[in-house]
Amino acid sequence: MAQPSLLERLGILADAAKYDASCASSGSIKRSSAGGKGMGSTDKGMGICHAYTPDGRCISLLKILLTNHCIFDCHYCINRKSSNVRRARFTPQEVADLTLNFYRRNYIEGLFLSSGIIKSASHTMEQLIETACILREEHDFRGYIHLKTIPEAEPDLVARAGLFADRVSINVELPTDAGLTRLAPDKSARQIEGAMGNLGHAIAEAKDAKKRFRHAPRFAPAGQSTQMIVGADGASDTDIVAKASVLYGSYDLRRVYYSAFSPIPDASAVLPLKRPPLIREHRLYQSDWLMRFYGFKPQEVMQAAEADGNLPLDIDPKLAWALKFRDYFPVDVNRATREQLLRVPGLGVRAVNQIIAARRHRTLRLDDVAKLTVSVKRIRPFICALDWRPTMLTDRADLRTLLAPKQTQLELFG
Ligand code: SF4
Repeated sequence: MAQPSLLERLGILADAAKYDASCASSGSIKRSSAGGKGMGSTDKGMGICHAYTPDGRCISLLKILLTNHCIFDCHYCINRKSSNVRRARFTPQEVADLTLNFYRRNYIEGLFLSSGIIKSASHTMEQLIETACILREEHDFRGYIHLKTIPEAEPDLVARAGLFADRVSINVELPTDAGLTRLAPDKSARQIEGAMGNLGHAIAEAKDAKKRFRHAPRFAPAGQSTQMIVGADGASDTDIVAKASVLYGSYDLRRVYYSAFSPIPDASAVLPLKRPPLIREHRLYQSDWLMRFYGFKPQEVMQAAEADGNLPLDIDPKLAWALKFRDYFPVDVNRATREQLLRVPGLGVRAVNQIIAARRHRTLRLDDVAKLTVSVKRIRPFICALDWRPTMLTDRADLRTLLAPKQTQLELFG
């Protein structure tokens, strides 16, 4: 059979990569300037996605698979060997050429490269490394490279990936070992976490060496990340939060990404027919922020969950926690510690920093706090200020109803 053209293969392999959320740019409505109306588009070119660098810049990446052939049979994956999907494959040289061509045209600032497993995990890993090696060593490519690494490959190869990539990632895939065994029978949780551990050590050693020797080689300077699929197995949000906290604690991960399971064409019968609500993924990202930036312990985030172990969908986990632990409030904006202020629903890190800076010069009134927040109505039950005490408001039985965002009717044909 004739090999599809380069453009056809780009279409197939960019589409196959879209299920990886590690650098997704979701949440935008579709707008296009096709037909000469307006300028710009939220629909990027084939295979181009946005990602955030460690210093907070938003960059465009060419996001593709080297191949969507795979010898594994993970039930949730459109590229599994039993799937009836159209297959394609690039050579490392072709991916390097595409990256350079896109880069020269100013379409992208880097590459996100993953792959199905061909022949063996080590063979595939060699091909991924070769692509990055061509870019870095033959073309002195200094753009961003994110390489998905294959935990089943030889440890030396996994470690070598970090010499060329800015970021490396290994997907843990599912929050529980039982879920992984059921839905990804060729994968092993021990192997995945073993590979993450090796990468974690190598990243820490390289950082240490860089402090002591100026010319020590770079090794994945943007660290490692992982992704968990939400809603493909029966794992609850508390299972997911527990797993994420173990991963952050054990492997010094930069990010855990949560990807709401989306039903795939020709899906395996063991998968649910419906995707979980996207808001569930959003609540998990919020809980992740609580642990990383707001000083919440994993157990505290889990306390925000409902009886079924899932975070409420109608309110964010910080508000859910505050409503359950009302005796913690109100906190005095003029005296409370930073940690106490960060617990107030509606007060973000920036607002807390501004409150702390402003109260050095004067005693704050409710109006002063209102200027620093989006909605003072939301925070009033949880704070005291010079001219404000919530009195009975904090303990009102209907406080949740008062503070929950109003439900809006979705557009039927939106
Ligand atoms: S190994 Fe990766 S590409 Fe292959 S079936 Fe599993 S998730 Fe899909």
